[in-house]
Amino acid sequence: MLNNYLEKARIYSKNKNYREKHKYEIAEKKKKYSLEHREEIKAYHKRWRDNHKEKIKEYRVKAKEYNLRWTREYQKTHQEVCQTRNQKSRVKLRNEVLIAYGSKCVCCGETELKFLAIDHINGNGNQHRKEVCPNGSLYAWIRKNNYPNDFQILCHNCNQSKGSYGECPHETARRNMDYAI
Ligand SMILES: [Zn+2]
Ligand SMILES: [Zn+2]
Repeated sequence: MLNNYLEKARIYSKNKNYREKHKYEIAEKKKKYSLEHREEIKAYHKRWRDNHKEKIKEYRVKAKEYNLRWTREYQKTHQEVCQTRNQKSRVKLRNEVLIAYGSKCVCCGETELKFLAIDHINGNGNQHRKEVCPNGSLYAWIRKNNYPNDFQILCHNCNQSKGSYGECPHETARRNMDYAI
């Protein structure tokens, strides 16, 4: 048994020297072989995957668990970095959506992104938000759904007034002007 092992180690180290010496030739040979036997290799891998379906599934579950654990651990030890990163990506997403809808309040023309927000044209905002993204971000949902037509941009002032009074004072003023004309 020991002799066997020593013999194997001897061959391995001899081969190792050989491999080191002929590194480039071997790499070339490997490349050539894989090009020439492309279909065979593909079929071999497919066969292997088919024969190890359960194992692959198991591995995927384990890898997922491991990643989740790792992420949680990382978040715990890097709280500040994660917070800044999350905030940055939230702002980026928000701006992306606002720009896609014209980045301008449809009521008063405000263009400062920090003052702007997305508004449900039909006014059923809260209910819709609850339905499509109970725990997530509405902005992410909008981007994922290819910017539907049910939204517009309002600045916080106009949005707030619409919510509180049913109509923004700008709109009332415009209406009165129409009557005056
Ligand atoms: Zn406005
Ligand atoms: Zn307004």
